[in-house]
Amino acid sequence: MELFYRSTRSDKERVTASQAILQGLAADGGLFVPEEIPKLELPMVQLKGMSYQETAYEVMRLFFTDFTGEELVHCIESAYDSKFDTEAIAPLRKAGDACYLELFHGATIAFKDMALSILPYLMLTAARKNHVTNEIVILTATSGDTGKAALAGFAKVEGTKIIVFYPKDGVSPIQEKQMVTQEGDNTLVVGIHGNFDQAQTGVKQMFSDQELAAQMQARGCQFSSANSINIGRLVPQIAYYVYAYGKMCAAGELELGDPMNVVVPTGNFGNILAAYYAKAMGVPIGKLICASNENKVLYDFFRSGSYDRNREFILTSSPSMDILISSNLERLIYQIDGRDAEVTRAFMESLSVNGSYTITDGMRDQLADFYGNYASEAETAAAIKNLYEQTGYVIDPHTAVASCVYEKYRKDTGDDTKTVIVSTASPYKFTRSVMTAIDPAYDAREDFELVDELCRLSGVPVPRAIEEIRTAPVRHKTVCEVEEMPGVVRNFLGL
Ligand SMILES: *Cc1c(COP(=O)(O)O)cnc(C)c1O
Repeated sequence: MELFYRSTRSDKERVTASQAILQGLAADGGLFVPEEIPKLELPMVQLKGMSYQETAYEVMRLFFTDFTGEELVHCIESAYDSKFDTEAIAPLRKAGDACYLELFHGATIAFKDMALSILPYLMLTAARKNHVTNEIVILTATSGDTGKAALAGFAKVEGTKIIVFYPKDGVSPIQEKQMVTQEGDNTLVVGIHGNFDQAQTGVKQMFSDQELAAQMQARGCQFSSANSINIGRLVPQIAYYVYAYGKMCAAGELELGDPMNVVVPTGNFGNILAAYYAKAMGVPIGKLICASNENKVLYDFFRSGSYDRNREFILTSSPSMDILISSNLERLIYQIDGRDAEVTRAFMESLSVNGSYTITDGMRDQLADFYGNYASEAETAAAIKNLYEQTGYVIDPHTAVASCVYEKYRKDTGDDTKTVIVSTASPYKFTRSVMTAIDPAYDAREDFELVDELCRLSGVPVPRAIEEIRTAPVRHKTVCEVEEMPGVVRNFLGL
């Protein structure tokens, strides 16, 4: 049966999966959502023995119904290959009271690789399917990890260009070095004097700029998005929750059918929304535990029913979660307001005009599966240090936020359901924060000295992604003001 996609903000558009992937964002500014969430069609017992690629296929074929089986296999096999440094692709690691689902074994050592290694293949297949001959221009705002993962996926891919905007002072030194050393003539990396929310808003505005769209069309190109607003990113992320459940059963951590809680370090709400979709597909997930850093807008939302971005934007040691406008929450709002696009549009209008909105009690009742909490900077550092001292396992600051919130959840509720903590980045990506959490004296050392020290401490080999940037030359030096973003894009595209 064919599954169609609709915008969260109006009933006018109804598109196929491939069209939704190509477009990225709906023309009315809404996000594409499937008309229904399909149920997994295979018995749970079979999951236990399936490879990552097989699991991904089972999930994607249900969502991307206008792709042929062959096309999907090609996309999956091209994405989840030796770019990953383990055949498991997303291995589980037990440490302390929880299991960590390591999603950082791809080319850029953060979980964005899980979706962005496949998105270029999905997009090119979608273009062919829809007889699009325009060049696809990927326009992306990044809080640090999406940028590099999208660059790695799209660099030198024929028929595409990619432009990445990142907050100049809002990413880790290694994140920045990874991006500005990117090769490929079809790439452009630009730092902005502003924060991630401003970068994301600037990008969304360009998407709905009709004049710009017309100029692009005249030049034979069109925008698409590599941000998690693209359904082509969200769906591949569902796969690792399905996979994790199978592997937890295979490892004897769970009996088939037992509930499994997940803790997700959250920023734009994409990763945890994928877990919510996995649950809706039939995976026995119990609680969806949403972990925030000091930008705790989601914690406040789950507690009060009010989403309010009117607050100070805080730069933390988990920069990929420094976000006050969690775009994907719109998809959850749409789901719990009875899939009423008018209502969703009104909430988003209020968010845009007033910076806030409050959901109804009836909507709040549907959030019972979620639990939100947050970790302060001191708590995050302590979580890294404690886990290392107790188990020898070193986690990055984003994962540490989740680990800390997991402890708070257990204290709050007494719930000791088996839990998977989603580990979203390699500690090597945030070496300085990680090492100084373990011992503040490390702060005096150089970045790459710390890399070697982390290797000694953790026994984990230095990833290829880090070795590559030790000596790589800086290729991207453009920095601009927020208002100058459209000009930079026009200039790069020769408009
Ligand atoms: C992007 C990112 C997150 C946040 O994920 P969302 O899908 O935006 O909620 C958390 N940790 C790391 C390391 C990331 O790169």
